[in-house]
Amino acid sequence: MIQDEFERAAAWIRRYFEHPERYRVMPAIQPGEVTAALPSHAPETGEALEDIFADFERIVVPASTHWNHPRFFAYFATSAAPVAVAAEALAATLDAKAMLWRTSPAATELEQVTMRWLGHLLGLPSAWTGIIYDTASIAGFTALAAAREALDLGIRELGMAGRSLPALRVYITQETHSHVEKAAIVLGVGQRNVVRVACDEALRMRPDGLAAALEADCKAGLRPLAVVATVGTTSTTSTDPVRELAQVARRFGVWLHVDAAYAGIAAIVPEFRSLLDGVELADSLVVNPHKWMFVPMDCSALFVRDESMIRRAFSLVPEYLTTPEAGAVNYMDYGLQLGRRFRALKLWFVLRHFGAEGIRARLRGHIALAQEFAAWVRAQADWEVLAPHPLSVVCFRYAPPNLSEAALEELNARIMHAVNATGEVFLSHTKIGGRYAIRVAIGNLRTQRSDVEHAWNLLRREAGRAALAASDVVG
Ligand code: PLP
Repeated sequence: MIQDEFERAAAWIRRYFEHPERYRVMPAIQPGEVTAALPSHAPETGEALEDIFADFERIVVPASTHWNHPRFFAYFATSAAPVAVAAEALAATLDAKAMLWRTSPAATELEQVTMRWLGHLLGLPSAWTGIIYDTASIAGFTALAAAREALDLGIRELGMAGRSLPALRVYITQETHSHVEKAAIVLGVGQRNVVRVACDEALRMRPDGLAAALEADCKAGLRPLAVVATVGTTSTTSTDPVRELAQVARRFGVWLHVDAAYAGIAAIVPEFRSLLDGVELADSLVVNPHKWMFVPMDCSALFVRDESMIRRAFSLVPEYLTTPEAGAVNYMDYGLQLGRRFRALKLWFVLRHFGAEGIRARLRGHIALAQEFAAWVRAQADWEVLAPHPLSVVCFRYAPPNLSEAALEELNARIMHAVNATGEVFLSHTKIGGRYAIRVAIGNLRTQRSDVEHAWNLLRREAGRAALAASDVVG
């Protein structure tokens, strides 16, 4: 019996990875359909594996958006290397709760080793410490909590309410990912104290703007908590000038967190190492192996200059969790969670399976495909690229002449939804300076040039149809 479930699952996974493109990328279903297909109560008695599996194939798989599909180009395209999926099954089998060294010696030490390997590949200072979290959002929250502790305002002991404290301020830009604002909300900073520093024309935080904001706030008696710079913003992959921002942050004694969730991984490639230029002057940095290093969700690596600041913010040891191993790392001291998954195993499998050169080759391939796609857009009349595209994301739109911004938005949204409705491709959008942009993000292990070409053909076909429909209306 036991063999059955594993053989069944393994066979299914093998078949899935042979042809993930056999599915629609995004299912053609409406909200509520999955719920309606399922019973309203859990079964009272156990069911046969055969029936459970049949429902998995009948209900779950067709209602899934397939991130492993080679024509998934939305958000940041990611994919799971099969070898890492195998590692996930092994990690689930060991079912370690990696909170204390003694509850998970291998998980603890493999995390230390893989974080050192990754830090070295990224060119980070060897004295920095890497810790794995589920997501960049939680890693960012953790870094900001450490930054708040570093202010020495007694917030850990006394809280923030009922005493006079200066308002704490966090500095970002309009391009910064929304998790930073969420972290500011839950850390008691408040949304109004999240300062949006102006960007230059390439959507990068302006160091002079940051210096001016810090200066004005300090004069007004406010207390800067942290600056968050982004390497590879979510909309366009623009990169803030980390070195200059770090110099400003240092001048004011403010914690600098670098959010390199997607693009930081590219620093493994020598010709893109400059993305992380100046990062050694920062206090913390996050990169997501689950975004662009073929590690399945979830695996986010936070690197910190001084790990004791994280422990100061989070360590709290009740009697039942005290341990006799002096000097051992207990990862429960590094965040909100107690029990933690054995995430380092899949990262270790990926690093060993591909080798650094294998990862570099794939990232270079993705970047080259994106550059080629941008060239196709540029070469086509009535299409335009809307932002610099240094990496594997291109923002663009169909822009026939004499249309208002509102009409262009309507038109491009229609084109994108029509393309997505085919189920053959999945794209997402953003706005850049108020202008609606379609995004093509390339980051999947299986994406070939023909997949990108297919997306481009569909886009032009749907643009043609939309233009025709519009002229019919006018006519
Ligand atoms: N930071 C950046 C720049 C992102 O683009 C994203 C998500 O796309 C995040 C943070 C959030 O990542 P996560 O889902 O790991 O929290």
